[in-house]
Amino acid sequence: MAETHRLVIDGLRAAVEGKEILQGVDLEIASGEVHAVMGPNGSGKSTLSHVVMGRPGYEVTGGSVSLDGADILSMAPWERAQAGLFLAMQYPVEVPGVSLIDMFDASLAAGDGDGSGVRDRMVAEAERIGFDERFLERQLNVDLSGGEQKRNETLQLGVLRPAIAVLDELDSGLDIDALRLVSRRIEEATNEDGLGVLAITHYDRLLHELRPDHVHILVAGRIVRSGGPDLAAQVELDGYAAFGAADEPADTESAFTPDPSAGPFADPFADPLA
Ligand code: ADP
Ligand code: MG
Repeated sequence: MAETHRLVIDGLRAAVEGKEILQGVDLEIASGEVHAVMGPNGSGKSTLSHVVMGRPGYEVTGGSVSLDGADILSMAPWERAQAGLFLAMQYPVEVPGVSLIDMFDASLAAGDGDGSGVRDRMVAEAERIGFDERFLERQLNVDLSGGEQKRNETLQLGVLRPAIAVLDELDSGLDIDALRLVSRRIEEATNEDGLGVLAITHYDRLLHELRPDHVHILVAGRIVRSGGPDLAAQVELDGYAAFGAADEPADTESAFTPDPSAGPFADPFADPLA
């Protein structure tokens, strides 16, 4: 295995529009490890992924995040990506007019990456996850089904080979066959490239396929329990209420959309045409 990387989240607190959502989160993810963060809707799972990647609109009110000792929170999102972090978003951004191939060309041209062979790697990666090659030419995430978007993200992960990947609700929109292929690809990356994974999920369905080494339960912005894989089974049996969660709100739509007055380019995660 390649060198070991370590993402350390220490006492992380973060607020959205003045409301503190993360209330002191501690997590440590090393190369080759798969950590699952499970929690009910609205517990702060997506907030955690966005704060780690630097989405604007979230105010860090305490704690730290470091990758191999370097302070991640002081970096721009692209610097975090360059440092080796990868985020597969719960709701990937549509980028009309730009294909996956365009995107890789642009990002490799921007860095000092060697672009040769990227096309071949993309084709090979598409094949590994049963993703039709024509998606490489399609506009990024435009009119893609949820499952196609997630395969798209997984393909990017395979090509970019990040040190640590944060996967937000990777299972949403994936049928069981696609879920299996995508999970297997990620598991292979943990073995082949020493990828460290923070898999965020509401259901334990994902964790039957992408088997975690460690499971953490996030309730109301705090990790209330950590354990091995059987913790996921316990959630399935007992529900989150057994971990102190209130009954789930009827409104399950808690996706955060930042203030549009910040301008379209203030948020690299936002829909550029919105
Ligand atoms: P999860 O991904 O676990 O479902 P989120 O991280 O998306 O949860 O949201 C966590 C909490 O933060 C929810 O209660 C949500 O309503 C709240 N929240 C998110 N965005 C905002 C916002 N712009 N203003 C106020 N509360 C917000
Ligand atoms: Mg979420």
